Amino acid sequence: MSATVDRRGAQPPYEIERGEPRSVAVIGAGITGLVAAYELKRQGVPVTLYEATGQAGGSIGTSLADGFLAEHGPNSFVSSASVETLIEQLGLDDDVVEANADANRRYVVRNGKLVPFPMTPLAMLRTPLLSKRAKLRVLFEPLVRGVRDAEDESVASFVRRRLGPEVLDYAVNPFVAAIFASDPEQLSMLHAFPRVYALEKQYGSLSRGLMKSRQAAIAARKEARLASDQGDHGDQGHNQPSGEHDPRMISAAPVSARLISFRDGLQSLTDALAQALANTLKLNTPVRLLHREKERWVVETGHDGAQRARAVNAIVLAAPAHALTAMELPAAIRQYALPIEQVEYPPVSCLTLGFRRSDVAHPLDGFGVLVPAVEKRNILGALFSSTLFPDRAPDDHVTITVFVGGGRQPGIARAHTDELVKLVRTDLRDLLGVRGDPVFAKHVYWSRGIPQYSVGYDKVKSAADATEASNPGLYLTGNYRHGVSVGDCIASGQQVAQKVAAWLAHSS
Ligand SMILES: Cc1cc2nc3c(=O)[nH]c(=O)nc-3n(C[C@H](O)[C@H](O)[C@H](O)COP(=O)(O)OP(=O)(O)OC[C@H]3O[C@@H](n4cnc5c(N)ncnc54)[C@H](O)[C@@H]3O)c2cc1C
Repeated sequence: MSATVDRRGAQPPYEIERGEPRSVAVIGAGITGLVAAYELKRQGVPVTLYEATGQAGGSIGTSLADGFLAEHGPNSFVSSASVETLIEQLGLDDDVVEANADANRRYVVRNGKLVPFPMTPLAMLRTPLLSKRAKLRVLFEPLVRGVRDAEDESVASFVRRRLGPEVLDYAVNPFVAAIFASDPEQLSMLHAFPRVYALEKQYGSLSRGLMKSRQAAIAARKEARLASDQGDHGDQGHNQPSGEHDPRMISAAPVSARLISFRDGLQSLTDALAQALANTLKLNTPVRLLHREKERWVVETGHDGAQRARAVNAIVLAAPAHALTAMELPAAIRQYALPIEQVEYPPVSCLTLGFRRSDVAHPLDGFGVLVPAVEKRNILGALFSSTLFPDRAPDDHVTITVFVGGGRQPGIARAHTDELVKLVRTDLRDLLGVRGDPVFAKHVYWSRGIPQYSVGYDKVKSAADATEASNPGLYLTGNYRHGVSVGDCIASGQQVAQKVAAWLAHSS
């Protein structure tokens, strides 16, 4: 139930701590909130970071047991100039691990068999993943007319129109499942893949647009190299907020981008941020109420007699969209909140299984395998996680990380571990020739996984814009607003911190 707070001058029944001048509260210690708080602290802004749970990191978490490393959410992400800067600031350079060169090979299932996804135009012509007819359809893509003044269109409709139904089924559907755990019929092309969407608008064709934008990127890189030789060090790796910089995407990542993790897993990054914020991070402290008191914001935490309140100048709300429902908010926020609260986050289960190497027939020589919906399997896909990065399994063992559920099959995500292992093993046996019992299993269930940038997402973005415009000093950020990949979240944490710091400087 959502609630509106209206104090109209009445004082709360407890004392409000006065934050220092120019102080900021960041709500939610996922990667976005951690980075925002870290950047504000670095700029000398007094900051308090509130986290509802007992651990910082949000969707990012790693566990290590019996020599098997399991990621609870993301397994890797695409680096950028801003990510590299953060890593350097945190002193994590020596802990970074780059994905194995084999990671360039991604398999897709067709008729129950693994087929390497074609990564070059020549490979596309030769691949058994698409029929001759589908390949011809792709070759004719430049002749397909663009739609004028198209309404927000689903990814499925866009791809069917430009590239044909088979490309949708075997190339796009599995990648959309991997990035957003979503169904392309629901996902908005404009909001989920804005750069690809813009290619049609700008060049009238994806292939023409890709060619031109590659040429432009090469020219820009040359120019940047020249500029850096001359001492100009601008941020050349600024993220485009979308699914396009997600490591599970194949083609749109910048050519020079690194696919990375850390020796002890992705939690090294969030742990390092939490450590740097030690005095300012309040764990087990859900924010339950925000209200305005003259020129400042008041953030309330706790319940019944144990409430605490702190007055601050600005708030960065970096909690998931659905967190607004549980908060008491002033009418000036509540009036815009509904479309934000209604963003869907379908459930997803991550299951990391460890096997003896001799029990797996497939060489696991790639990033992993993606499963199109038309193949009617239980899993969305499987990462070859011990191939991707070194030392993720004991000698003579491997790990395979499987994703289940999402918008495609939400019911399966909710299965109990034993049932899930059974369902997953059927697919692993058929697809990868996995025979023996797993010697390790780590199951993490996300009741709300990844936000869906569904058709009509304009409403969500407009509501977030309107909330900020009517509430000076309040900033909304996180993966439902500026892109779902870890790289996008890092960039949006840094950007919101810059905005807040500039606003504080201007308003004081
Ligand atoms: C299963 C899975 C696999 C993924 N794989 C990849 C991948 O391989 N690569 C990639 O780049 N991305 C991947 N992603 C996406 C990426 O991990 C997330 O988009 C990103 O980590 C989200 O960060 P965030 O800070 O925006 O939100 P979150 O991580 O959701 O953090 C929000 C935080 O806010 C806290 N909070 C909520 N309410 C309150 C409150 N009232 N008060 C205080 N705190 C509150 C929550 O407890 C949480 O810690 C994956 C995501 C999932 C779920």
